[in-house]
Amino acid sequence: MKEKIQLSNSNFTNFSFENYSRIFHGLKVIDFVSRFETDLEEYLDKDKSVVALNSGTSAIHLALVLSGVKSGDTVICQTATFSASAFPIIYQKAVPVFIDSEEETSNMCPHLLEKIIVKQISNGKKPKAIIVVHLYGMPAKIDEISNIAKKYEIVLIEDAAEALGSTYKGQKCGTFGDFGILSFNKNKIITAFGGGALVCKNIENKQKAIFLASQARDNAPHYQHSVVGYNYRISNLLAGIGKWQMGVLDEYIALRRMNNEFYQELFKDIDGVTVFVEPTNNYYSNHWLSCIKIQEEISGFNREDLRLQMLKDNIESRPLWKPMHLQPVFKDYDYHGGNVAEILFKNGLCLPSGSDLRNDERFRISSSIKKILK
Ligand SMILES: *Cc1c(COP(=O)(O)O)cnc(C)c1O
Repeated sequence: MKEKIQLSNSNFTNFSFENYSRIFHGLKVIDFVSRFETDLEEYLDKDKSVVALNSGTSAIHLALVLSGVKSGDTVICQTATFSASAFPIIYQKAVPVFIDSEEETSNMCPHLLEKIIVKQISNGKKPKAIIVVHLYGMPAKIDEISNIAKKYEIVLIEDAAEALGSTYKGQKCGTFGDFGILSFNKNKIITAFGGGALVCKNIENKQKAIFLASQARDNAPHYQHSVVGYNYRISNLLAGIGKWQMGVLDEYIALRRMNNEFYQELFKDIDGVTVFVEPTNNYYSNHWLSCIKIQEEISGFNREDLRLQMLKDNIESRPLWKPMHLQPVFKDYDYHGGNVAEILFKNGLCLPSGSDLRNDERFRISSSIKKILK
């Protein structure tokens, strides 16, 4: 059996023992957490304040807490996403309202967003926050969405877990909202072997986030607490790895974008298969995952035909994320929209996109795909 080609491998070929030992050595004296945060601030936008946390999920949870989202509040969330965007709404005992995507970026539809806000306001249930996602690295229609959030004075939380390094009109994803979140989980574009970050607009919010993420300890010689805290800070060791990975981020983005070009070339003459690409030059995706849409009426094969063929050849692929409103755990919550996200789930496939994908592996992928074409 040939070696398995995975969906999203981080490139660790240059993670030497030397790197490890340098980080271990520094642990006693170096505050990697604040250095990692400074690197992130410099990379994203120097005016932002970044808090390094133990996961992207805890970053979303803290963003909701800091936005004042409480029991019974409404939070609008993109349905086409990974569950971690929505679970923290439930942690706060708030009520998610899921909305559909538009066709161009596959992310939250701005027109639908405004319609639902107006409707919620007229029902006396003005949403407390909006969670927009840049899925698979593709920037959402973030200027339109951000204008709507401002117009109705609703907190905007930007889930950029998959989109570190992606930009819209040259501005980095994660810096448009009142809060942005990042993830450094094992499968993301760079990893700290688990970790996340909260991007704040100012230092006051950063300080509040650090306070809450470190068990909400009041300023006293003994342990004293006036509010409920969390244990959400990143460890110094993992921050050291995250900081080291910041140095290879741009290289990994270039590699992931090369994968996308490879798939564009591979499918360019195949009717009924569309590779996800940026709709205009305003969008720049890190192409964390390269995805395709298959129209079976035209192509003569469907997503499962292709997925199962690749599986036989020990190549991992995965259907696009199943929309939240179709998940059993969220079946009791409201959903607005048509079937854009649903059709993407039915016809869409994420292809191997690791930053360590080799040419011989690309050859195996194209051979496997060609078996389906005839
Ligand atoms: C990975 C991911 C998260 C959660 O990040 P963790 O660090 O795994 O908690 C949130 N949202 C999206 C869209 C993700 O892909």
